Amino acid sequence: MRKRVVILGSTGSIGQNALQVLSGLEDTHEIVGLAAQSKWQALAAQAGACGAMCVAIGDPTSGDELRRALGSSVRVLVGPDGLTELVDVSDCDVVVAAIVGTAGLAATLRAVELGRHVALANKEALVVAGSILMPAAQRSGARITPIDSEHSAVLQAIQAGRPSEVLRVYLTASGGPFRTWERGRMDGASLEDALNHPTWNMGPKITIDSATMMNKALEIIEARWLFGLRPDQIDVIVHPESIVHSLVEFCDGSIVAQLGTPDMRTPIQYALTFPERRPCPSRPLDLFALRKLHFEPPDPARFPALDLGHDVARRGGTAGAVMNAANEAAVELFRSGGLRFTEIVELTRQVVDRHEFVARPDLGELLAADRWARDEVSRCLTC
Ligand code: NAD
Ligand code: MG
Repeated sequence: MRKRVVILGSTGSIGQNALQVLSGLEDTHEIVGLAAQSKWQALAAQAGACGAMCVAIGDPTSGDELRRALGSSVRVLVGPDGLTELVDVSDCDVVVAAIVGTAGLAATLRAVELGRHVALANKEALVVAGSILMPAAQRSGARITPIDSEHSAVLQAIQAGRPSEVLRVYLTASGGPFRTWERGRMDGASLEDALNHPTWNMGPKITIDSATMMNKALEIIEARWLFGLRPDQIDVIVHPESIVHSLVEFCDGSIVAQLGTPDMRTPIQYALTFPERRPCPSRPLDLFALRKLHFEPPDPARFPALDLGHDVARRGGTAGAVMNAANEAAVELFRSGGLRFTEIVELTRQVVDRHEFVARPDLGELLAADRWARDEVSRCLTC
């Protein structure tokens, strides 16, 4: 029996890479469902090519066109609940969670509650609600395998020892486009500058998160949940080549790393085939051509998101939901010209510091904290 796969966010950067990977796994996996926010033509073309029988589109104005394009044999779900409905009705085994932002949380949680295997790219879901998702996975038996390249590397390296033998994890960071920029120059960075990532080709939100290094703040929290680590066991190290995807240090001083070309198809495939490995379309790494790898400590003064990430990981509770939502809102403002680049993290920190912390929130309180943080970003702009 082939595994039945649903891709949430199929028109995005991870979604398209997942489709490519799955086209090489046709003997073991079949795609039964796809979902995206808009771009109905792209979604229809993807569904036609892979034979998905159920498709969800978030934008309610595109539903009729999508239905016409796909014909009556494909079920089309429309509107914000379509993602969760798709997980419910598709009778799938695997969900690739590749929606960007908190928008992916509800469907990811539903997949976890149903005990599905979740190949998780949507790190924001864990940052907002790791305290709900991880226990839910334990109850249902759902497996969550990371697509994020650093966490895929940690998953691969951590199997070299027992959990009690892990001393710390080093998450590598490319340093983004502003790794060598002076603070004053970063103040005036344009959207085009921020989208000019040196090593990875990704969707716009995560590319801006990489430029502020908020992406690493999110990844510290993601690692904390996925691997049950204390925040002080998670370090960030800048590695401009993006070849070493992360490292695990064990109690005997051995450090085990995973290396590969910066190509998301490798971690996507590993998340899908785990614990097995299969040949992958990504280009193999040529160590003889590479010759040198560089590592440097991050600069917390120019990249204050890193300290914020550690603070929020230590606090837990509603802090992750607030940090994530404030950052999403601030990134949107920066993209529309309403904020300077360095204000993204400044504003996010302000909102985190102002929020009324709840130590053991339920899902409703996490979603309320998310909404409050988005409103607070707007209020901060007018005060
Ligand atoms: P993207 O912007 O390229 O794609 C996002 C996808 O989600 C699109 O298909 C979009 O239509 C869909 N979407 C967004 N909001 C939606 C909604 N409300 N309802 C339905 N669909 C919605 O983003 P991406 O770069 O592919 O990133 C996706 C996730 O993967 C993010 O959480 C990101 O942090 C994570 N991630 C991405 C990469 C990468 O290389 N791109 C690497 C690691 C982790
Ligand atoms: Mg990453």
